[in-house]
Amino acid sequence: MTKWAMVIDHQKCVGCGACIIGCKTENNTPEGIYWSYKITETVGTFPSVRYHYIPTLCNHCDNAPCVRGCPTKALHKTEDGITMHDPDKCIGCKYCMFNCPYGVIYFNWRKPHPEWRSQEVLIEGCTSSAQEMADKVKGRVTPYYNPERESTLDGIRPKGVVEKCTFCDHRLKKGLLPACVEACPADARIFGDLNNPSSAVSRLLGKYRSYRLKEHLGTSPKVFYIRSFNPGAYIQTKGEVS
Ligand code: SF4
Ligand code: SF4
Repeated sequence: MTKWAMVIDHQKCVGCGACIIGCKTENNTPEGIYWSYKITETVGTFPSVRYHYIPTLCNHCDNAPCVRGCPTKALHKTEDGITMHDPDKCIGCKYCMFNCPYGVIYFNWRKPHPEWRSQEVLIEGCTSSAQEMADKVKGRVTPYYNPERESTLDGIRPKGVVEKCTFCDHRLKKGLLPACVEACPADARIFGDLNNPSSAVSRLLGKYRSYRLKEHLGTSPKVFYIRSFNPGAYIQTKGEVS
């Protein structure tokens, strides 16, 4: 049985944020909601100071406290290890947000994507509002909507429920990589089957010592981090997965 996992290679991550944008456009996430994000740490002492980036997303924990605490089973584990969310079952109680130690579940406080229905104009009597433009082209959804997201989940999740990363399950079903992995220009995110010893993730985890976020909590995350940023080595290894 497949067990999906991600390896994030600090040595390759330059903190450009392409993964964050790739995720937002793929999954139609509303303003202020980031299924994929990054923690920025400042390390060193002046004048030898640099940023250290830790890309973050749902860890798809094997022992997921968000799933255990969900009263309606809206949050559940799939056979291949993905922590999925069903907006139809979600009652918006937010227990999962309190139970997740990683802060990667978001609540939709308002109707998503209100900006494309805005009636505000830049110059009164001169420029069009977003609403006018949408009406002109008979727009029914936000212009940057990706309909492919709909194949396994609501394309845009409604107000009053939570949402989170799905490891791009809709893309995996088509044999594609998660959008954040695809978008990363440095190949810092590597994705694959942990149960397959010859997969890129298994090979990397066999080769390098890894760590996971808040491992001591016993959540068994399926996002692993390896190595540390090294600009010299980066030039030699860019684009490789091993
Ligand atoms: S990271 Fe949070 S949301 Fe994701 S599976 Fe673990 S507990 Fe659940
Ligand atoms: S797995 Fe998909 S949804 Fe999750 S962070 Fe990556 S791109 Fe975004």
